[in-house]
Amino acid sequence: MIIKRRGKQADKERLEILMRRFPRADLLVNEYAAACAGEGGEERFDFYIDRCGPKFPHLILHDVSLKSVSPFQLDSVMITPWCLYIFSVKNLKGVTEIRTNPAQSIHTKDDGSASGRRSPVEELETHAWLLEEWLMRHNLIAPIRTILVFSYPKQIPEGIPPGQIVLFSHQLPMFLAKLKAEPAVLRETEMREIADEMLRYHRPYVHAPICKDKRYPVSLMKKGVWCKDCGRLGMRRVHGYWVCSCGAKDKDAHKRAIRDWLLITGEPVTNRAAREMLGLDKVKIVNRLLREMDLERVGAYRGTGYQLKTHK
Ligand SMILES: [Zn+2]
Repeated sequence: MIIKRRGKQADKERLEILMRRFPRADLLVNEYAAACAGEGGEERFDFYIDRCGPKFPHLILHDVSLKSVSPFQLDSVMITPWCLYIFSVKNLKGVTEIRTNPAQSIHTKDDGSASGRRSPVEELETHAWLLEEWLMRHNLIAPIRTILVFSYPKQIPEGIPPGQIVLFSHQLPMFLAKLKAEPAVLRETEMREIADEMLRYHRPYVHAPICKDKRYPVSLMKKGVWCKDCGRLGMRRVHGYWVCSCGAKDKDAHKRAIRDWLLITGEPVTNRAAREMLGLDKVKIVNRLLREMDLERVGAYRGTGYQLKTHK
């Protein structure tokens, strides 16, 4: 059973914000295509895992961000009665050669150019350790196993250490169908308890504020409520709805604008800043809109602001 689906990828969201809020964002087309490819790899993984439905009791959570010794992000977790499987999904074109001592991967593209990266095996081992720490801190115990998933068979992994499970996405259904149930160490209530605790402590990954990048200062940010139908800024609020000159009508368009503002500035949004961003000079209405969003309230009275919930 899938109990948490994947949110929008942070890299992709950041580029979308740049494209709607800053001039010269047309330069980002290639970067955006790469982010979409990464997301495509995860969607492919989800597609295969959705259709396999293992026969043993299991709970699946996609895209979980937790914090123990340091913050860490798991692509997918499957809780079973005998262990937690953590999956890392990679979508790298060309040859990925995994080395040890020092742990690193050498990535060679089709054009022959090579670059060093973090080893996906070492990264998974680190995630397993951070998750083990997290479980201990929450008085939970479960064995952890790791599975490295490559999205497409045209990717060529080399130098995989013995014992590390590596699959291509399309092999997931058969792998899970054939996976043999082992003696249980967790009851179903305990499996659920782990899942609930993960949901409770999950905080979506947030990039460093966009304005930290000198190319995108707040002063260049275009304000206004963005229309998802026509891509223009400047929706107006009429009788509780945001309406656009293209005819689109949207109840929640302000949420997108406020989130853009928060991800660009990295600061709590005040009523005044929100009014400017939304182009809506109504203190009470803006107050209510902010309160109704899933944000953390900071400060008091005139200094009240709202910020994204993140790992402290
Ligand atoms: Zn529109």
